[in-house]
Amino acid sequence: MPGAIKSPFAATPYLQAIGVALLTVVAASGQAAPIKLEVDASDSPRKILHARLQFPAQPGRLTLLYPKWLPGEHAPNGPITDLVGLKMRAAGKPIPWTRDPEDMFAFDLELPAGATALEVSLDFLLPPSAGDFSSGASATPQLLDLSWNEVLLYPKGTKSSEVQYAASLRLPDGWKFGTSLPIAKQSANEVEFSPVSLETLVDSPVLAGAHFRDVDLTPSSGPPHFLHIAADSAAALELKPEDSRNFSRLVAETGALFGARHYRSYHFLLTLSDHVAHFGLEHHESSDNRLGEKFLIDEDLRKKSADLLPHEMTHSWNGKYRRPAGLATPDFQQPMKGDLLWVYEGLTDYLGLVLAVRSGLWTNENFRQTLALEAARLDQQPGRSWRSLADTTAAAQLLYLARDEGASWRRSTDFYEEGDLIWLEADALIRQQSQGKRTLDDFCKKFHGGKSGPPQVVPYTLEDIITTLNETFPYDWRQFFQARVYSTNPRAPLGGIEAAGWRLGFTNAIPEMLKIAESARKFVDLSFSLGLTLKEDGVIQDVIPGSPADKAGAGAAMKLVAVNGRRWTAEILRAAVKAAKTKSAPIELLVENEEYFVTCKVDYHDGEKYPQLERDASKPDLLAEILKPLTPALRGNAEK
Ligand SMILES: [Zn+2]
Repeated sequence: MPGAIKSPFAATPYLQAIGVALLTVVAASGQAAPIKLEVDASDSPRKILHARLQFPAQPGRLTLLYPKWLPGEHAPNGPITDLVGLKMRAAGKPIPWTRDPEDMFAFDLELPAGATALEVSLDFLLPPSAGDFSSGASATPQLLDLSWNEVLLYPKGTKSSEVQYAASLRLPDGWKFGTSLPIAKQSANEVEFSPVSLETLVDSPVLAGAHFRDVDLTPSSGPPHFLHIAADSAAALELKPEDSRNFSRLVAETGALFGARHYRSYHFLLTLSDHVAHFGLEHHESSDNRLGEKFLIDEDLRKKSADLLPHEMTHSWNGKYRRPAGLATPDFQQPMKGDLLWVYEGLTDYLGLVLAVRSGLWTNENFRQTLALEAARLDQQPGRSWRSLADTTAAAQLLYLARDEGASWRRSTDFYEEGDLIWLEADALIRQQSQGKRTLDDFCKKFHGGKSGPPQVVPYTLEDIITTLNETFPYDWRQFFQARVYSTNPRAPLGGIEAAGWRLGFTNAIPEMLKIAESARKFVDLSFSLGLTLKEDGVIQDVIPGSPADKAGAGAAMKLVAVNGRRWTAEILRAAVKAAKTKSAPIELLVENEEYFVTCKVDYHDGEKYPQLERDASKPDLLAEILKPLTPALRGNAEK
């Protein structure tokens, strides 16, 4: 877990020798020759990658590291368990290595006299089932998401931005690929990439597949933009003309929002498969977006995840170019500090939702429903009574992998959704108090814009955020964030919704966005009425402390069997909640708790309840203003 990484050789006479060996590698990688990395992915349909590395080196001790802290994952997630077959050779002989007993990601070895290079071969076992993030499932018989960090080692003591790698890749016959990595040479199924820094290599995944499609999204001016799609079937590549237009609009809208681009070209990598981990991971010049196979051809799935590409693209400015100082680490072993994730992820999430509407991927109503669900969920979760939003950022590396059970008492990675509310409030406040002369867009242009050019990292602190906000519109921003981020609050920050001319209310009809989410994620959400959520098999996911279900004795991980004596289904449960409104008898839930059965009598009579935003006609509709496209030619396209 995070902490100082100690080498057993530290403060010993070996130190000097390591220093010499490392300097040699740096000098050599600096300009004599880059480290060679050959990846053979021809067996990826069988869930295995083969790799060979060649390090220029000299006799002496050396430590090689496997990347542990992956940018964008905010956690020490490097999939070290699946690194296998590690063998080393130098001067024609096998070189024994030992793993550092205190750091599972470090391998120590000694190069013999006469050695001028070190050869390393290794395999990576691609996980067969969906897991978490880039270490989750990433290969199917039809496609592969290659994250270079899975198949490489780097010399300890080198900076990721300095050490150079020349990578090459062999793919299964007939496969095509997309990546932001510059290509030096290409033949039938082999590609050689131009040498780049380790930082750029790990920041430039490759998407490859048998069913592949490239879509050019380049706007009328500026760098090239591409959408590369790999899917488990040819049918899933069917991109509707309006979606293609909306993705092009997204590119135009980001240009108008930030006023500059910090990349040479931009590549959306879109993986469509039901057999890979589903998530998005940001990079400077690309984004790794993994969704279900039917994302492009099923209207509900498209709507459910329409904000993913806008979110990940926003990160190119907010997260990659401007990066919290605690996340701008010099290599992949130094622990990252997540304290400003409410800016890195929170502001990105807000802008991602806004851009989804401005680009036409969502309607205003899709946005309002999403915001209402987030606001109501955050507002009712009791975990906010004991931990601040700031604590969820500090503990992000734990919360990303936490179970669903107990989430309302534990709190989750709330800096995304609560970030939406806080940045909406900042946006509404600036608009309101400046009589519409200033907006959060002006802040984005100042903070994330600057001069267009190739990727660079400009770290920031909370002070920098406050300074630029004050330049945008003078206000007590320190106190604004102190109250919302750094203090515990029994209620969610709903001020932005209210300042924007809306209020959080409830309805008895399931909102479309919740219906879509329930069907895609296979769960039933009665958290706003009974106070529980269930998986499709009846297992209770979470019970909100203090809710009617909690008072009746229900608990997470129990399994619902019957409702009022009848075998449960989502429909029967919802019908019982509805019927109880006009009855005084409790709703009886028969639940199984580890082989024991118990009946929970839920004394609840308020009917079905789902959140919605209701218009406050006494105030101007700032939400509608916020969601208007910035690109003049596109105005009027998104409103519905
Ligand atoms: Zn993100």
